[in-house]
Amino acid sequence: MATVLVTGGAGYIGSHTCVQLLDAGHEVIVLDNLSNSSEQSLHRVQSLSNKTLTFIRGDIRDAATLDQLFAKYNIDAVIHFAGLKAVGESQQIPLTYFEHNIAGSIALFNAMQRAQVFKLVFSSSATVYDESNISPLNEDMPTGMPSNNYGYTKLIIEQLLEKLAIAEPKWSIALLRYFNPVGAHKSGCMGEDPQGTPNNLMPYVTQVAVGRREQLSIYGNDYDTVDGTGVRDYIHVVDLASAHLCALKNRLLSTGCRAWNIGTGTGSSVLQVVQAFEKVNGINIPYQFVPRREGDVATSFSDNRRAITELGWKPQYTLEDMLLDSWNWQKTNPKGYR
Ligand code: NAD
Ligand code: UDP
Repeated sequence: MATVLVTGGAGYIGSHTCVQLLDAGHEVIVLDNLSNSSEQSLHRVQSLSNKTLTFIRGDIRDAATLDQLFAKYNIDAVIHFAGLKAVGESQQIPLTYFEHNIAGSIALFNAMQRAQVFKLVFSSSATVYDESNISPLNEDMPTGMPSNNYGYTKLIIEQLLEKLAIAEPKWSIALLRYFNPVGAHKSGCMGEDPQGTPNNLMPYVTQVAVGRREQLSIYGNDYDTVDGTGVRDYIHVVDLASAHLCALKNRLLSTGCRAWNIGTGTGSSVLQVVQAFEKVNGINIPYQFVPRREGDVATSFSDNRRAITELGWKPQYTLEDMLLDSWNWQKTNPKGYR
């Protein structure tokens, strides 16, 4: 069993991963500044797993906090979720994104190096792929220049980690390229809790369902897809969390830097998602079509065979499970963790 530092562990994906780490017997140290989360999620992590974790409220950009933490705990590996993720906001305040995501990550990697901790699982994104690639996207396809500053930070961090692993062979780094995380813990106790107006499809749909928003705007119905709406690869957050445990196990035994897609390998259109949500949950979702959103591609879904064969990971949940669990979380917690 390992002692794992989880940066951003109070967030949506981090909290689901912490439950599984504790369940598997790992010791968990969470570092989170709570800028986009609540400590409440960590209380729920502990009550669900019936185990305790250590929480440090702090910032990954703070070298002193990091050094103290690495000195105090005998950390074997880091799972690095912390960062800012709102695409639109990243266009308004790019420096803040570069500061938290890029400078913050470099501060973390420096502290890891000082502490001689070289095992890392990093939250990357399918947004790093060049837009001209045709789905299913595989890890050998070229990366491109992401259309927004958020995606750009992910690409930069991937590239610097690749160079780091070449220069210093002790590093062992997993770049997990997430497709579209949705869903929530089966218990309904944990889920996605976006601040303000949701940018992503699923929380918007559940907030319409719960009456917090009037109707969904569907961005474009003239794409070259099955019904004209955008196609994405939705992955249950519990499956995504389990990919981190598989990647951790893999990285504890090897070196180098390697990317893995974490998706189901299947694409669903916005309309298919909305209609499936209505069917499984018996709720009507009013929607209107509006023009395409800048920077969106028509279709993006994964080839997930590398993660299945190399990490021994396999997604277990269907789109219906994702929609049931997203709604179960939202209806049980209409105001999220507040
Ligand atoms: P989230 O916002 O719920 O979690 C991120 C956590 O990091 C939050 O708890 C936040 O308070 C914390 N944080 C932010 N900046 C920090 C800093 N400087 N120091 C310490 N803590 C800080 O987001 P999430 O959806 O759980 O995403 C986790 C990671 O996965 C992020 O890196 C995100 O970019 C990446 N990712 C997310 C998605 C998605 O759709 N959710 C897709 C691809 C990649
Ligand atoms: N989408 C939409 N309305 C919304 C949010 C998203 O029609 O309010 C569409 C978006 O155009 C894309 C899909 O839903 O085709 C998934 O978008 P999301 O922002 O969740 O993830 P992305 O793939 O853009 O990271």
